[in-house]
Amino acid sequence: TVRTRVAPSPTGDPHVGTAYIALFNLAFARQHGGQFILRIEDTDQTRSTSESEQKILDSLRWLGLEWDEGPDVGGPHGPYRQSERKDMYAQYAHELVEKGFAFHCYRTSEELDELREARRAAGGHTALKQSDLALPPEEVEKRKAAGAPYVIRMVVPEGEGVCVVDDLLRGPIELEWGMVDAQILLKSDGMPTYHLANVVDDHLMEITHVIRGEEWINSAPKHKLLYQYFGWDMPTLCHMPLLRNPDKSKLSKRKNPTSILYYQRMGYMAEALLNYLGRMGWSMPDESEKFSRDEMFANFDIQRVSLGGPVFDQEKLSWLNGLWLRENLTHEQFAAKFQEWALNPEYLMQIVPLIQQRVEKFSDVAPLAGFFLSGMLPIKESDFEHKSVTLEDAKRILQFSVWFLDTENNWDKDHLFAQLKQLSEQMGYKLRDFLFPLFIAIAGTNQTVSVMDSMSILGPDMSRARLRHAVN
Ligand code: ATP
Ligand code: GLU
Repeated sequence: TVRTRVAPSPTGDPHVGTAYIALFNLAFARQHGGQFILRIEDTDQTRSTSESEQKILDSLRWLGLEWDEGPDVGGPHGPYRQSERKDMYAQYAHELVEKGFAFHCYRTSEELDELREARRAAGGHTALKQSDLALPPEEVEKRKAAGAPYVIRMVVPEGEGVCVVDDLLRGPIELEWGMVDAQILLKSDGMPTYHLANVVDDHLMEITHVIRGEEWINSAPKHKLLYQYFGWDMPTLCHMPLLRNPDKSKLSKRKNPTSILYYQRMGYMAEALLNYLGRMGWSMPDESEKFSRDEMFANFDIQRVSLGGPVFDQEKLSWLNGLWLRENLTHEQFAAKFQEWALNPEYLMQIVPLIQQRVEKFSDVAPLAGFFLSGMLPIKESDFEHKSVTLEDAKRILQFSVWFLDTENNWDKDHLFAQLKQLSEQMGYKLRDFLFPLFIAIAGTNQTVSVMDSMSILGPDMSRARLRHAVN
């Protein structure tokens, strides 16, 4: 039977790209009467968090992407969280060492830099192979005796030649072995890298089709080798085109909101967002633009995925969402859905503690906190008039904040406060003056709750979008 999976790393907000890949895996599994698995790839312990994992599970479920096996629902091939499978990977890495397909490497990171630098200077590939990494036997003994840390790397072919990888959509793809380095499989702390854990798990979880983003094509030669070394059948590979910004660059949060939570907060219907993701590179046989999940599954054919980069365009999504709102909901259903979106206890309880002290009657709530229920705010230049901040200053503060916050992943309010305070000092503004344009961009007014609280409740993508909207 067909078994597919989605394997997100819980290192940030749930990405629309993850939902897109999950949708195509689920569609493929359902079309073949197979199973769809959710696996959490949290081997990067410094970046993975359980909050991120929870948000990914919640968002995918909100979209209606249900899995047959996963960390929360269990299943016969568990655990489904890689951090709980740690010992297994080490065993497999040692097995490869015993068979001569992998080796211990005691090279320090300074030595690796030097080796790469020498390569670059000689104008060759920078991929390092076993022979490049070898140390004299006495040196190895010395480092071993001193208890120096080591990693386990895989052996890869040296010299000329290409690896041919078959792709369900692209046919045979040729990749030069010269570009492939002796990949680390097990880190010095005993944790596996993505490559080892991914291959071992896909095998043990009996995955038959790996449908993933095209950013992973370059990893395929390493994976193919690992399957050969272990003597396992390799699943069929299928690399999906990446989602793109309207300017055709790879979808990135610097240009376009990428978090599913943003689309939730903007008030899109889950059905409409899923419908839109289904149109990314794929179309119904009759080219109809609006279709439900089940209609998609009934008509699914992966061969109809087109490889031209699908553009994720919020305006198109809004148009489609409008159709769903008008055509699929009665007034009663609309009212119920709106209530659930605007007044659900989880969201409301983040806001109420901030406003309860500041109002005298319920009718004061909307003027004070209505921006929590908005999308982009209608802001005019005159809104930025202030006794000690010029319009030019305001624009400058907003622009620097946008750049600064683009790379900020920690959206905790105390952290945000510390970071922005630092930025205001660097830019030479008093904090109060610096925060004024942020208030306008985020809330439309400074007569409201703290802007740090607001930003942390609205989340990174909504906050960034409002700041950007205010700059333009
Ligand atoms: P950004 O550039 O916005 O920071 P990113 O590439 O860093 O995005 P990641 O956190 O690395 O995002 O990716 C999260 C998940 O989303 C990964 O599974 C990745 O494969 C997927 N993903 C990221 N970008 C795209 C895209 N353009 N199309 C499809 N999937 C994507
Ligand atoms: N953990 C990888 C990711 O975050 C999975 C890639 C794959 O599907 O092999 O995208």
